[in-house]
Amino acid sequence: MSDRYQTILLFGPPGSGKGTQGKILAKIPGFFHSSTGDIFRNLDMQSEMGKLFYRYSSRGELVPDDVTIRIWSQNMNAHTILGQFKPNQDLLVLDGLPRSVNQAKLLYRYVDVCKVIHLVCRDTEELFSRMIRRAAKENRADDAKPDVIRRRFEVYQRETLPVLSFYDPDLVVEVDALGSPAAVLTQLLNAAVPMQDAHFNRSTEAEA
Ligand code: AMP
Repeated sequence: MSDRYQTILLFGPPGSGKGTQGKILAKIPGFFHSSTGDIFRNLDMQSEMGKLFYRYSSRGELVPDDVTIRIWSQNMNAHTILGQFKPNQDLLVLDGLPRSVNQAKLLYRYVDVCKVIHLVCRDTEELFSRMIRRAAKENRADDAKPDVIRRRFEVYQRETLPVLSFYDPDLVVEVDALGSPAAVLTQLLNAAVPMQDAHFNRSTEAEA
C-alpha cells in the first residue's frame, strides 16, 4: 500500500462550508478531518508560530507555504502517534490545504488525493454575509472586517483557484455550496463513501 495518506480535498472559497462539512464527516468512523485554519487557531498566540499566524491571517493573507506544510505534517504525526488518525483505515479529509500550487507540490509526498470536492459558489455577496455571521458567532477576528474578507477572496482567486488544475479533472466533483448543509452532505457522501470503502477494503486485503 502507498505510504501517502489516502485523501479527499474539501476545496472552495472562504465561507463555502468546508469546515462545517469537514466537522460532520469527522463524526463518521473512517474519516479524519484536518483543517489548517483550525490547527493555526489552536496555536498558542504568544508563541512565535502563533504570532506569525496572526500577522498573516489578520490581513487576509496566507501563511508562508513551508511553515504551513511543516506545522500541518507535525500535527498529522501527533494524531497518528496518539492513534487518533489511522492512516491505513481512515480517509483523510483535508480542509483548507493546499491553498496554492506550491503547497499542492509540497504536499504530494504526504497525500494521495483520490477526490477533490469543489464547493462551488459564485455568489460572493452570500459568502461575504456568511463570513460576517460566522465571525460574530465564533469570535474570529480575521473575518470580522470587510477589507480582510475582500482580501481573502482576492487571494483565493489568485493563489488558490489555480490549485484545481494541479489535479486530474476526473478527480474533481462539483457540489453546489449554497444548498442546505444536508443537501451538500448528501452529494459529498456520494463522492466520498466509495473512496472510503475502497481504502478500507485495500487495508483489510493487505492484512489478510
Ligand atoms: P480558514 O480557517 O481555513 O478560513 O483559515 C484562516 C486563515 O488561516 C487563513 O486566512 C490563512 O491566513 C491561514 N491558513 C489556513 N490554511 C492555510 C493554508 N493552507 N496556507 C496558508 N495559510 C492558511
